[in-house]
Amino acid sequence: MATTDTATLTRFTPKELPYAYDALEPQVSEETMRYHHDKHYVGYVDKLNTLIVDTPFADQPLEDIVLSADGAIYNNAAQAWNHEFFFETLSPAPQTNPDGALRSAIERDFGSFGAMKEKMTGMATGLFGSGWAWLATDKAGKLSIVAESNAGNPMRQGLVPLMCFDVWEHAYYIDYRNRRAEAVQALWDRIDWKTVGERYERRR
Ligand code: MN
Repeated sequence: MATTDTATLTRFTPKELPYAYDALEPQVSEETMRYHHDKHYVGYVDKLNTLIVDTPFADQPLEDIVLSADGAIYNNAAQAWNHEFFFETLSPAPQTNPDGALRSAIERDFGSFGAMKEKMTGMATGLFGSGWAWLATDKAGKLSIVAESNAGNPMRQGLVPLMCFDVWEHAYYIDYRNRRAEAVQALWDRIDWKTVGERYERRR
């Protein structure tokens, strides 16, 4: 993130997408990714930059703002954080299965990887309105699936996010129209379990 520069409202600089816009096709189209990253995500960052001027949040790291702000500042900070995390969870060449300590924890806490996917798909699909479905862990390593409305982030409950699905309509409507379940199902093939497993190992 950029250093503080309230004069030009560029406190936070949007992160580049970590792969080409068309790299997740066919599950996510180039058109969706251009709107999702360049318009929606960048829009949250730009709005956050304008909202925090002359507030106690003006010189705080993004994660601290997510943890402590409310209202519009929280909404835009969390949406910025959530999108960066979401885009970094997906990969053009993902490790498609969890392994190591994360695999063991999934089998312990959900019975099997398949059962975990089924539960999370159901919660993502069933969430009323806009929001996010999260796989999260507590500091001890116990996993949970959390459905959050709007900009909701499980860090607010003291949990460590591991992966997520964005189920705002802007995430899928171009490619899947109203078929949210189909969009979520397709995205499983783009989740990089190497990244998710590293997050699990680093939980704090
Ligand atoms: Mn989104």
